[in-house]
Amino acid sequence: MAVTSAYIHIPFCRQICFYCDFNKFLIDRQPVDQYLDALEQEIRQANISEPLDSIYIGGGTPTALNEAQVKKMLDIVDRLVPLAEGAEYTVEVNPGEITMEKLAAMKNSGVNRLSIGVQSFETRLLEVIGRGHGRDDAVEAVKLAERAGFDNYSIDLMFGLPGQTMADFQASLDMAVSLNVPHISAYSLKIEEKTMFHNWYKQGRLTPFPEDTEADMYELLLDYGSRNGLYPYEISNLAAAGYESFHNCVYWKNEEYYGFGAGAHGYVDGMRYANIAPLTHYIKALEQGNTVVKEEMNVSSAEKMEEEMFLGLRMYAGVDKSRFKERYGMEYKEVFASTVPDLLENGLIEDDGEKVKLTPRGRLLGNEVFEKFLLEKDDAS
Ligand code: SF4
Repeated sequence: MAVTSAYIHIPFCRQICFYCDFNKFLIDRQPVDQYLDALEQEIRQANISEPLDSIYIGGGTPTALNEAQVKKMLDIVDRLVPLAEGAEYTVEVNPGEITMEKLAAMKNSGVNRLSIGVQSFETRLLEVIGRGHGRDDAVEAVKLAERAGFDNYSIDLMFGLPGQTMADFQASLDMAVSLNVPHISAYSLKIEEKTMFHNWYKQGRLTPFPEDTEADMYELLLDYGSRNGLYPYEISNLAAAGYESFHNCVYWKNEEYYGFGAGAHGYVDGMRYANIAPLTHYIKALEQGNTVVKEEMNVSSAEKMEEEMFLGLRMYAGVDKSRFKERYGMEYKEVFASTVPDLLENGLIEDDGEKVKLTPRGRLLGNEVFEKFLLEKDDAS
């Protein structure tokens, strides 16, 4: 399988959000330039010769960097990552951190898509989750992106936030629609370990959001989408036609990609890997001319088939049955013979002959369905 994409991790933030468990560091007094030098070294070692179809610079937040550092980051990609004609090149940006100069530098370097970390258009809720921006910054970020010539962009929205009402979520969706955004990534809050929210949860200061209200919010999202020309091409992602994220589809189609940077994950030559996460260890390894320390995980063919199903079922287009057979030499129904008939009979998945997909009911119970595609150890040879 050819590697078609690359993810680059910039692990710096100007503030730490209360819910975030990504590999990130407060940017103050961090060795950002040394990190970028190490990143350059890691990408150089990969010696990418075939042009890629997509690149995604995420974090952390790349826009936590100052303007000179943003340019340095873009220059590394320009020199070391060949891109195919029409390739998708996305950078994550945060409201309150983007400037016209940073956006112009991105535009000049061929960045053609932005992912804007809005999360909510309600200042009260942004404070509740520890974001460093308010409603006006979020609106301004979208307008600035458009003024800089980016018509292809996505906003992140969160639901199931502490104290969030249906009316709050509706207000954020109203704002997204009035700004005419072409893509929304919408995720419900999960209380992850090693976050402020998890501490507060353990201390009894934070209660999990009611599941039924969360489900109602998800339905509201889909309803808004369908009334406003944004179709849900993946469980958490809605887009106007032609604005779907190519890069994210690489993950959901279970294809291979490079992962560069501290804590980045990649999938190359049938091997999933996670780069060492601590910043100083990552930098030191590359400064000493070594390859970055990776935790490598061989993926058995049973695991590949499991992943193919639960990643592919996230997409509304579903899993391509002939592609599954081509990759694994068996029909998906044979591999998952003990589970598929029940899922079909209970109306959680549907099989139209070419594709197998989640039904609307299956989408509401996504995690329960995905679990059914875990093979028993005996099958995993
Ligand atoms: S959510 Fe984004 S901005 Fe907030 S701490 Fe995590 S990586 Fe940084």
